[in-house]
Amino acid sequence: MFELLKTDAHTKARLGRLSTGHGVFETPVFMPVGTQASVKALDPRELRDMGTQIILGNTYHLNLRPGLDVIRAAGGLHRFMNWERPILTDSGGFQVFSLAKIRKVKEHGVEFRSHLDGSLLFLGPKEAMEIQRVLGSDIAMVFDECPPHDAPAREQKLAVERTIRWARECRESRPGGRDGGQQVFGIVQGGSNPALREECARALIAMDFDGYAIGGVSVGEPEAEMFKAIELTEPFLPAHKARYAMGLGTPAQMLELIARGVDMFDCVLPTRVARNGTAITRRGAFGLKGGGYKADFRPIEEGCECFACKNFTRAYLRHLLNVNEILGLRMVSLHNTHLYLKLMADVRAQLAAGTFADFYREFIANYVPSRKVLSARQREIER
Ligand SMILES: [Zn+2]
Repeated sequence: MFELLKTDAHTKARLGRLSTGHGVFETPVFMPVGTQASVKALDPRELRDMGTQIILGNTYHLNLRPGLDVIRAAGGLHRFMNWERPILTDSGGFQVFSLAKIRKVKEHGVEFRSHLDGSLLFLGPKEAMEIQRVLGSDIAMVFDECPPHDAPAREQKLAVERTIRWARECRESRPGGRDGGQQVFGIVQGGSNPALREECARALIAMDFDGYAIGGVSVGEPEAEMFKAIELTEPFLPAHKARYAMGLGTPAQMLELIARGVDMFDCVLPTRVARNGTAITRRGAFGLKGGGYKADFRPIEEGCECFACKNFTRAYLRHLLNVNEILGLRMVSLHNTHLYLKLMADVRAQLAAGTFADFYREFIANYVPSRKVLSARQREIER
């Protein structure tokens, strides 16, 4: 299902291709996040036109609203939201541990109260796989426990043990998409503890998942710690399976992780910061609402081919944002998402041409990280 086409000669970057029941996508890939069966503010035609290859959906949220009966009756998530290309679904573990109230962690899952109406619910490996089966996503994620980055060592160890046990239960209930059906990815936890990362990776690889995610990143940890978590995990992952860093990141962070051997990314950042009027460019991010753009008649980013940059100026978009016109946040969401997708397309072209290392160095040298964007980086519980 995953085909490794090329490995960069100077970094660990990889060019690949993953086949699913809803078509093939090329890696490195950015997956826009459609938590509630919609990529916020963007419609499927816009996403297609921008070159979106795969999007994300969320088990926890879709199970609560509209509920599985509605999605089953609609014929699955693809049909419900009219998206014909691949979909990956998150298992809901992250949301249960970060969003739900009054939970009790049990052997086969978590008892929690809905953050919407307080009703008592239970989600574990078996339930998460069943919900994802009904959603009909092309890639399902195992149900894992993702502790905060500063959790004590004992808690990290317990989370890894549970993650391994639950991954086995997921695997048993869903043996995998070898016949073109739903694929299942394992999630490696273990924080920044080398022994735990290794233990978790080895146990999951023995279960032969279709791909592997590196979890426990983008949970509020400093950037250096995030890179470390990836570096501690990557050497154990098999070369012929896709690797996915969950909930990341800024454009520069994605480049750093591609150079460290990661193939797949998802992040709410492009649409989330857009709603606050922040535009992301290849040189960093800036707040469009500022007075400095009042009469700035340039596009958000010179040379950008997105609809917003081809048609509107910073001055006009700033005005829309400041008077709360929906078009303003839609156009900034569109530009930001386009930037992420185009950056991945450029990375793939550079890898194919054998020039990725120079491109990567130059990109990092020109990119100025914005504190505002970095602080928004933390994986949104809404995801
Ligand atoms: Zn643009």
